[in-house]
Parts: sequence; structure tokens; C-alpha cells
Amino acid sequence: LNIINASFVASAVNASQYPEGELSEIAFIGRSNVGKSSLINSLCRRNGLARTSSTPGKTQTINYFRITGKMPDESRLEFMLVDLPGYGYAKRGQAARASWSKFIEEYWLNSARLKLVCQLIDVRHPPMESDINVYRWLVEHGLNVQVVATKADKIAKSRVHQHLQVINKNINMAGLNPGGNIIAYSAVNGGGRDELLDVIKNILLK
Ligand code: GDP
Repeated sequence: LNIINASFVASAVNASQYPEGELSEIAFIGRSNVGKSSLINSLCRRNGLARTSSTPGKTQTINYFRITGKMPDESRLEFMLVDLPGYGYAKRGQAARASWSKFIEEYWLNSARLKLVCQLIDVRHPPMESDINVYRWLVEHGLNVQVVATKADKIAKSRVHQHLQVINKNINMAGLNPGGNIIAYSAVNGGGRDELLDVIKNILLK
């Protein structure tokens, strides 16, 4: 799958603002600063498409992007990429966590076309409690989850596999199963991009 077009559609803070349409949705979620915006921009090969955390005044919104992909046989595959707000930011307290959860729950309840959630976890560290809690929530709500380990270029290539195993093991220890393979991704060198696009393509064609 080759992305040939990506464009911003809408930002939403509640269900009345979700864009209408028939497109399947692929959502991205992760702790603040995990590299979600960088991954989305790298996946779409469009710098500045998703705004990074350092963007002043960035608010907690759900952002929709319409993506057109081209298949090897030249046919087109369109989907909606959904950028969900980051969680687990240290300065936010319990009230912020509760409002984040309500936000995500409302999205989940109103997204019949949601096909896959890509959950991003920093490759350098074991998942945090918030990562595990979010993962559990997604699985318990019957969603397909693809775990993506970000910033893979920040560790030696020879150690990436070991780090993926640590993430895998921690998810297992929480009594959960990470499903398919965890993908190591680098927004800097594009590592993992083809693999992730392949997972997305297979889900969309299912
Ligand atoms: P977000 O808050 O999840 O959207 O995270 P950002 O995309 O804004 O990334 C947070 C920080 O990590 C920024 O300084 C990025 O430049 C950096 N970053 C993100 N992805 C990568 C990556 O794949 N490799 C490296 N080396 N840095 C990354």
C-alpha cells in the first residue's frame, strides 16, 4: 500500500462534530510525547499534517485525516486516519484522566467503522501503567489493537528485538495478549512503515 494523498478533514471535541461518511477508520493512540504526530506524518509522508506536542496551544481534540492509498494493482483504498488525544501526561491529574476516558469512550461508542487501533509505546521503556490500562480497555471493548513501538532509531538495531520482547512480556504479565507482532517504527528513517501499512491494508481488505 502506497499513500498518495492525505488531507485534514476535521477536529472534534464531541460526537456531534465527528465527520460523516462511509470510510473505515484506523485510529492512533499513545502517551503524550510518544511520537504519535511524527509517526502519522511519516506514514503519510506529509510533514506538519499532524501537529506535534510542541505546537503551542495544542488542545485535546480528535483529528480526522482522509487517506488515499494506491495498491500494487493501481486500485485505490481510502480510509479515515483518526488521531486520538494523548494520555498519561504527568502534569494532568485524576480529573484530566477521567475526562480523557470519557472522550475516548464517546468516540468508541460512536465509531461503528473503527477497524483498528494502533497503540504507540516508546520502544526504549517497558509500557507504563497507563499504557497497560489503555490496552486492556481497548481489548475489553473488542477492538483490534496493533502495538507499535516508536522511536526505534533511538536504540541500537541489535537491541530492538529484545525491547519488543520486553513490551510483549509486560502486556502478557498483565494477563493480556498483544495479538500480532509488535512493530518497531522510526519516524526518522521510516523503519516499520511498510510493515504497518501492510497491517492497515489487510484490516481494510478483510
Ligand atoms: P506526540 O506527542 O506523541 O505527537 O509526539 P511527537 O510526534 O510530537 O514526538 C515527541 C518527540 O519525539 C519530538 O521531539 C520528536 O521529534 C521525537 N520523535 C518522535 N518520533 C521519533 C522517532 O521515530 N525517532 C526519533 N529519534 N525521535 C522521534
